[in-house]
Amino acid sequence: MSTEDRIDPAEPVDELADLVSDDEDVEVEREQDAPEELDPEVRARRDAALAHVRKLGDPVLRASALPVERFDEELAKEAERMGVLMHDALGVGLAATQIGILHRVLVYRAYADDPLTVLVNPELEWSSEELVAGEEGCLSLPGVHVEVERAAEVRVRARDERGKEIVVEAEGLDARIIQHEMDHLDGILILDRIPRQARKEAMRALREAQRAPSAA
Ligand code: ZN
Repeated sequence: MSTEDRIDPAEPVDELADLVSDDEDVEVEREQDAPEELDPEVRARRDAALAHVRKLGDPVLRASALPVERFDEELAKEAERMGVLMHDALGVGLAATQIGILHRVLVYRAYADDPLTVLVNPELEWSSEELVAGEEGCLSLPGVHVEVERAAEVRVRARDERGKEIVVEAEGLDARIIQHEMDHLDGILILDRIPRQARKEAMRALREAQRAPSAA
C-alpha cells in the first residue's frame, strides 16, 4: 500500500455512485464468500442473520454512534443479540451500527474457543506505531475482501455490558477486529482505509455478490 494513494477517512465516499458505476477494465479476483460446502442449515442461519445486517448504501453505516449512558437489562440483551447474530453470520466481530443501533457497542470473538467480548463505549488508549497489513471482510460488504493496514497492537478502555470498566490489550486478529469495529462506530468502513484502485475492485466484488445474493 502506498501512502500517496491512501484515502483520507474523512473524505466522503460516494458509495451509491460507486455502486452504479461499472469499471469493466478492473480485474477482480473472484472469491467465494460462502463456500458451497457450507452445511445447508448453517447456511440458512447465516443468511437469516445477514438479513439483519445493514449493507453498504444504508446511511446508518455512515453515522457516528452515541455513547451508552444506561447499563440496563435492555443493553445486556442488545449485546447478547449482537453476539448471536455475529455467530450465526459466521462473523468475528459486529458493531451496533451494523444492525441499525446507534450505540457505541461492539462484540467480537476472534477464535471459536474464545469467549465473546463486549465493548461498550470503547476508547483507544494506545496503539503501536507498528502497522500490519491483513485481509479483512465485513458483514456489511458481502463478497469484499481487502488488505487493510492496522496498528499491530492496541489498548482499549471500555465497559462491559454490565457497566464494569475493562481494559483490553490486544494484538494479532483481536487487535485488527477491535479497530475494524471501532471504525464502524464512527461511520468508517474498510473501503475508506484502502487505496482508490483497491476500492474500485472491492465495489465490483460487492456488485457481483449482490447479483448472486445466495452466494453472498
Ligand atoms: Zn465491518
